[in-house]
Amino acid sequence: MKEGILYVIGGPIGNLEDITLRALEVLRSLDVLLCEDTRRTRIILEKYGIKVKTLSYNEHNENKRIPEVIELLEAGLKVGIMSDAGTPCISDPGYRLVREARKRGINVSPIPGPSAVVAALSVSGLPTDSFVFEGFLPRKKGKRKKKLQELAEERRTVVIYESVHRIERLLDELQEIFGDREVCLARELTKLHEEVLFGRLSEVREKLKTVKGEFVITIKGRD
Ligand code: SAM
Repeated sequence: MKEGILYVIGGPIGNLEDITLRALEVLRSLDVLLCEDTRRTRIILEKYGIKVKTLSYNEHNENKRIPEVIELLEAGLKVGIMSDAGTPCISDPGYRLVREARKRGINVSPIPGPSAVVAALSVSGLPTDSFVFEGFLPRKKGKRKKKLQELAEERRTVVIYESVHRIERLLDELQEIFGDREVCLARELTKLHEEVLFGRLSEVREKLKTVKGEFVITIKGRD
C-alpha cells in the first residue's frame, strides 16, 4: 500500500527567492498543500509556475482540518504544509497536525528553509552557541512581566518575536526589567527595508527611526 507523507516546508520570510530547490521540487510533487493563507502562498506558487491543490490550514480551522488531513495521509497521499512566513510550527500553525501524524506513525519529513529566529540570531553578533527562543510573549500584563523577569535571569542569548503593535512597549519593558543590555533588533529581514541595529538597548532605541514591519529582538544573556 502507498504510504502517505507530510512534508513541513520552510518558505520565505520576505524575499520570495529564499526558497530551496528541494522545496520547489517537493511542492510540484504534492497531492495537497496546506496553506495558512492560500492567497499568500499562491504568490509563491505562481512565481515558480507550480500547480498544486491548496487547502487552508490555520489556527481557526485546525480542529476541523486535522482529522480530514489525517484521512488523506492514511489513504497514502503526499501532503505539504506551508505557513505565511518561514517555517511552519515555529510560532505558526502546524504543530498539532504534526503531533497527530506522529502519534499515528505517519511519515513526517522536514524541507528546511528560512526561519526569522535563526536569520536574526545569525546576524546578531550575540553568542549563538546556545540560546532560548521565546517566540511571542504573553500579551496579558501580569503573565508578560513574570515571563520577562524569568528571561532576565537567563544566561543564554534570548530571542523574542514581537509584532509592530507592541515593539515600543517591549523596548520599554526590556529597559525596565533587563537593564541596559546588549541587544540586536532585526527589522524586515530579507525585505527592501531590512534593518539590523546592534548595541546597548538605549543606543538601539536611539537609532530606531522607523517603527514599522516585523521584528525579532535578540538579547544578551545575563553575565
Ligand atoms: N514561522 C515564522 C518563522 O519561521 O520565523 C514565524 C511566524 S510568526 C507568526 C511572525 C513573526 O516572526 C513576526 O511577528 C516577527 O517577529 C518574525 N518575523 C517573520 N518574518 C520576519 C522578517 N522578515 N523580519 C523580522 N522578523 C520577522
